[in-house]
Amino acid sequence: MATAEERLMEWLRDAHAMEAQAETMLATLAQRVVNYPDLEAQIELHLEETRRQAESLRQCIERRGGDTSTSRDLAGKFVAFGQGLSGMLASDEIVKGAIASYAFEHMEIATYNVLIAAADAVGDSETKEACQLNLEEEEAMADWLANNLHATTFRYLGRELADVGGDLADVTAS
Ligand code: MG
Ligand code: FE
Repeated sequence: MATAEERLMEWLRDAHAMEAQAETMLATLAQRVVNYPDLEAQIELHLEETRRQAESLRQCIERRGGDTSTSRDLAGKFVAFGQGLSGMLASDEIVKGAIASYAFEHMEIATYNVLIAAADAVGDSETKEACQLNLEEEEAMADWLANNLHATTFRYLGRELADVGGDLADVTAS
C-alpha cells in the first residue's frame, strides 16, 4: 500500500513520461503533414503546449521532492519511438495519426482528471492548478481533432483518388 502523497508522485511521473511520448508522437506527425496546413498548424501549436506541460510537470515533481530521471520515463520514450516509426510506414498515416492523436488526447484528459483529484486529496493547490491548465489544453486539442476528423479524412481520400486518377465524384466535404 502507498500513501496518497506517494501515489501522486507516481502518477505525476507517469504523466511526465506520457508527455514525453506525446512530444515524440507530435514531432513525428508534424514532419509528415505537409499537405494539411490546418492540421500541421494545430499539431505545431500542441507540440509547444506539450513541451510546456512536461516542464510544468517536472516542476511539480521537483517541488514535491521527486525527480524525473527514471527508467519508467525512459521506457515511455522508447514506446513512442516505435510508434513513430510504425506510423511512418503506413500510406494512410495522416488518418492513422489523427485517430491515434484523438485517442491519446483522451488518455491525457483522464490522466489530468486523476491528478487533479489526487492533488486535491493531499491539499497541493499548485499541482492542482498546473494540472487544470494542462487539462484545458488537452480538451482543446481533443475538440479540435473531433471537429476536423471529417475534413482531414475527406482531404486524404481526395488526394489518394487524385493519385490513382479518380476523384471524389459527387461527394463533397461537409
Ligand atoms: Mg499533453
Ligand atoms: Fe495533448
